[in-house]
Amino acid sequence: MTFSALGLSEEIVRAVTERGYTEPTPIQAQAIPAILSGGDLLAGAQTGTGKTAGFTLPILHRLSDKSVKGPSSGRPPIRALILTPTRELAAQVEESVREYGKYLKLSSMVMFGGVGINPQITRLRSRVDILVATPGRLLDHVQQGTLDLSKVEILVLDEADRMLDMGFIRDIKKILALLPKQRQNLLFSATFSDEIKTLADGLLDKPALIEVARRNATADTVAQKVYLVDRDKKRQLLAHLIEAHNWHQVLVFTRTKHGANRLAEQLAKDGISALAIHGNKSQSARTRALGEFKSGDLQVLVATDIAARGIDISELPHVVNYELPNVPEDYVHRIGRTGRAGCEGEAVSLVCVDENKFLADIEKLIKRQLPKEIVPGFEPDLNAKPEPILMGRGQGQQRRGAPSANRSGQGQGKPRGGQGAGNAGVTRSSAAHRSGGRHR
Ligand code: AMP
Repeated sequence: MTFSALGLSEEIVRAVTERGYTEPTPIQAQAIPAILSGGDLLAGAQTGTGKTAGFTLPILHRLSDKSVKGPSSGRPPIRALILTPTRELAAQVEESVREYGKYLKLSSMVMFGGVGINPQITRLRSRVDILVATPGRLLDHVQQGTLDLSKVEILVLDEADRMLDMGFIRDIKKILALLPKQRQNLLFSATFSDEIKTLADGLLDKPALIEVARRNATADTVAQKVYLVDRDKKRQLLAHLIEAHNWHQVLVFTRTKHGANRLAEQLAKDGISALAIHGNKSQSARTRALGEFKSGDLQVLVATDIAARGIDISELPHVVNYELPNVPEDYVHRIGRTGRAGCEGEAVSLVCVDENKFLADIEKLIKRQLPKEIVPGFEPDLNAKPEPILMGRGQGQQRRGAPSANRSGQGQGKPRGGQGAGNAGVTRSSAAHRSGGRHR
């Protein structure tokens, strides 16, 4: 299967080939023809599957296709709107739009909060065909009257489950009300909770359904390992592992923003270059840290789950769960940062006695036992008693695995609902022109 066989224009295929892609990924092979046909789409796919190109390429094709209705006169309107939960993801998606569209005459813009609004207002005065935005800042513009979405032809909700987790549902509804009724809607989500299904039911018209396996549920390319260790030895063990194995580019996860800061500072004291990224950091600090990490200047990036969402670093060799996530799906998202697009990766979890319940939940979700090891010199105390885990500010002290435990001290949304997109190893596609056409 080639990209041109999927019906994409020569200009787009050229850009993709230059990027080094020879073959479409499974999600691309299914999503591209579905989107090119002009219908709505409900896609179950997480980061790492190639989903960004899966929607970007056909959108570029449709918008540059002369036979598709375009602007007639006056200032060209915004024709495609891509909403993402995080700033990092918005920036990465827009970068992809620019790269894949470099041989086309389409113009894109990224819009997110945490940076000055005025340059964005200036930018909006010139042509923007494709807008990639996070919901909050987009609504700021709407309020200021600097943004017109009345001519949007294609809407993408990327990582819709994360958007709901982060409490964006009301913002999304406000945005939907600003769009023309007649449009193509594409919804991408890694999981299908009842909330997502409700959103999809209200938004999508006879959608094609595409579901690709959670690539990490099978984790063919990620070696996963647990090191059992006492809670107060984790930092020394991490420093030891980094130094003993000469690890570069290590993405380390903590549950809380405070924990991320503290760990980055401590590692720096150990002589290991480390920075933290999380929601309390300014956008410029986050961008800088990510840039240094990508270029290889920064050895360790410590991140919370939400801040790390959507970080796209090809061939990231090491992911460390310094603390296990209390939401088991986050484990899958975390290790999805490594071993991408066929590259080998390693995901290591440092687990203390307090986290046994989290570990059991993760193993249940991924349907396998993770190999456990003990590093000589870091043997855990077999008589240690578990202690409650603090989940970060604003959530009080929550016990391990408590049902009300929320995500990383950052989300305002509910704990995750069911999953279901993730039938390990199953790739399924079906055009939903069936009874009523709606996905249930
Ligand atoms: P995404 O799921 O969109 O975050 O993409 C995951 C990674 O796969 C990114 O690093 C892409 O650059 C890469 N990628 C996307 N499509 C392909 C492809 N057809 N062949 C190889 N790598 C790809």
